[in-house]
Amino acid sequence: MPSHMKIAGREAKPSTLMMGHGYDPVLSEGSLKPPIFLTSTFAFSSAAEGKRHFEGITGKRPGGADGLVYSRFNAPNQEILEHRLAIWDGAEEALSFSSGMTAICVLMLTYAAQGDVIVHSGPLYAASEGFVSKWLAKFGVTWLDFPAGATRETIEGVLERAKAQAAANGGKVCMIYLESPANPTNALVDVEAVSAARDAVLDTETPIAIDNTFLGPLWARPLDQGADIVVYSLTKYVGGHSDLVAGSIAGAKRWTTPVRMLRNTMGGICDPNTAWMLLRSLETLELRMQRAGENAAKVCEWLAGHPKVAGLGYLGMIADPRQRDIYDRHCKGAGSTFSVLLKGGEAECFRFLDALRIAKLAVSLGGTETLASHPASMTHLSVPDGRKAELGISDNLVRISIGIEDPDDLIGDFDQALAAV
Ligand SMILES: *Cc1c(COP(=O)(O)O)cnc(C)c1O
Repeated sequence: MPSHMKIAGREAKPSTLMMGHGYDPVLSEGSLKPPIFLTSTFAFSSAAEGKRHFEGITGKRPGGADGLVYSRFNAPNQEILEHRLAIWDGAEEALSFSSGMTAICVLMLTYAAQGDVIVHSGPLYAASEGFVSKWLAKFGVTWLDFPAGATRETIEGVLERAKAQAAANGGKVCMIYLESPANPTNALVDVEAVSAARDAVLDTETPIAIDNTFLGPLWARPLDQGADIVVYSLTKYVGGHSDLVAGSIAGAKRWTTPVRMLRNTMGGICDPNTAWMLLRSLETLELRMQRAGENAAKVCEWLAGHPKVAGLGYLGMIADPRQRDIYDRHCKGAGSTFSVLLKGGEAECFRFLDALRIAKLAVSLGGTETLASHPASMTHLSVPDGRKAELGISDNLVRISIGIEDPDDLIGDFDQALAAV
């Protein structure tokens, strides 16, 4: 992990670095906060400098550009954002994107070629799954999946099949793509087991990428468990105020550099205004996530004892010993997004949702405000019934993302809404 600032003989913590890292006020008239740089292009101090920058951009010289060139490649607000994002995951480098899905699509396009196989955990965010099965399929890329909680043996079996499938198609296993916890079931992926299985089975250089949107960056750091690339929808906890859409990836430069090259070509970098808003969000990231996590623990403890509640999918209350073991090895906190199973079905869930007064009825998660939704009839409506049953997306499941409101007010809201069921 790169060193950023030593204080009292040790590395300064991310929450400290979010206030200043990567920005020098002297370069901007002493402005304490970074201005928003609304410019499409950057003036070179000499023709030779322009040439040197382009050698870096085009890959003629390794190491990338050593200065700013053009805002499709990078710009000051995005660079500061990327430097600060990398800190949270202990990554060498981060890249910002205009949405989480742009990050995921550019990442997969970078690594997938005709005949290749992507192995992924299931379920994935629906659009991620769709990008693999619908769009990459057009270019001869196929996929195999394993259930989120799979053991090393199961994962090795799937990788063996993927290897054979890739060989038959004239390609390779180009990526192992994970999402943990899975939505909306909260099943965790054993990243250490995936990494060991990859090393045992594959002889190719196959990166392990993981969507860390639900627990990152505060409650999970998958690069520490053997993942190579972390992926975020910054729209969720990192942005944290439900007022922007953005995404990122982070990892070692050997993995991020090819992605940067494709982003340089395609575009899809985050815009300067959104990058600035994310810098503001990062200053309070730890505070917001901690409070939301504490609130969720209180709310779940209360919900668990309620007679109209049939079950909870909350990482702070895992019954399954295998899932518990993954949690203990991989997670620093249970997060604030979970599912509640009500006694009854869709009608009971709808009455509950319609009666909420503080929690808002909306999809998405990770904002300052509490949100509630009904996956079976909303985010997962198009999933076939058989697959829904397999994934545990039942008609009596409500998904909740807890915000930073007063916890007793939230409990009061759930109390009166459950009374209306
Ligand atoms: C929201 C989300 C995405 C997509 O992110 P956007 O910013 O909406 O493009 C990807 N993965 C997960 C887990 C998400 O929750």
